[in-house]
Amino acid sequence: MQIKVAKSAGFCFGVQRAVDTVYEQVEKGICPIYTYGPIIHNEVVVQDLEEKGVKVLESRDELEHLTEGTVIIRSHGVGKEIYDLIQSRGLNCVDATCPFVKKIHRTVEKESASGRQIIIIGNDKHPEVEGIKGWCHTPAIVVESVDQAEACELPENTLVCIVSQTTFNYKKFQDLVEILDKKRYDKIVVNTICNATEERQTEARQIAGEVDAMIVIGGSHSSNTQKLFEICRKECENTFYIQTVRDLDMEVLRSTGLVGITAGASTPKKIIEEVQTKCQS
Ligand code: SF4
Repeated sequence: MQIKVAKSAGFCFGVQRAVDTVYEQVEKGICPIYTYGPIIHNEVVVQDLEEKGVKVLESRDELEHLTEGTVIIRSHGVGKEIYDLIQSRGLNCVDATCPFVKKIHRTVEKESASGRQIIIIGNDKHPEVEGIKGWCHTPAIVVESVDQAEACELPENTLVCIVSQTTFNYKKFQDLVEILDKKRYDKIVVNTICNATEERQTEARQIAGEVDAMIVIGGSHSSNTQKLFEICRKECENTFYIQTVRDLDMEVLRSTGLVGITAGASTPKKIIEEVQTKCQS
């Protein structure tokens, strides 16, 4: 059996960097270590870190009560007030915010300071959007749907700056910007969509089109893995979705010539390698 593993399978650059940062801190051995929210939506990784003494802070309230230790900011980033709080509590801050997200923070901070109304295209409840809002000098408007874009009522010629959540769908972003375009605002649009997700999907589609069977690895609640599965299934009928190597049914792959492997954004490299090794054994 021949195997083809997608180069973009698994963690994106920002998540890999954040996870590596936590392990680096563990190696330094200066405890206690906290992450502000789970570093990644992968139970295996979070549990492994917990066993190494890394605790997850589930809320701002928990942070407020800390008296010592290191707090690691995950790739989604946080608002300015969280940095201020960490500092005021005398805690050590290790910032693993993805540089692409950081760039949005800088943009909205600068543009809102110069008087522009910030409009964020994204999901208001997503932690990344929460963080972006927290760098605006005046309250930002969050737009996720056509209805919300149409309902956006600012006076004509209002100075606005439109940015996007990094994982927002590009086509949808364009559609919403088009609606806002008609409002005659004096606007600048900064496309801050990160192409990691799109690259992963494009590569998965391409590999699935070439192979006899395709394996998609990812968590059961991972929507981006589900999306990968759907994309691959369209190209290759023999597409299988697994969470770990234990779900791999070698019987169905036995007479397969070329097998492709891809994985969702929160799948660790180790799990991908285990699947690859089993397929080759
Ligand atoms: Fe990953 Fe892109 Fe988000 Fe950074 S901005 S964490 S690279 S998806």
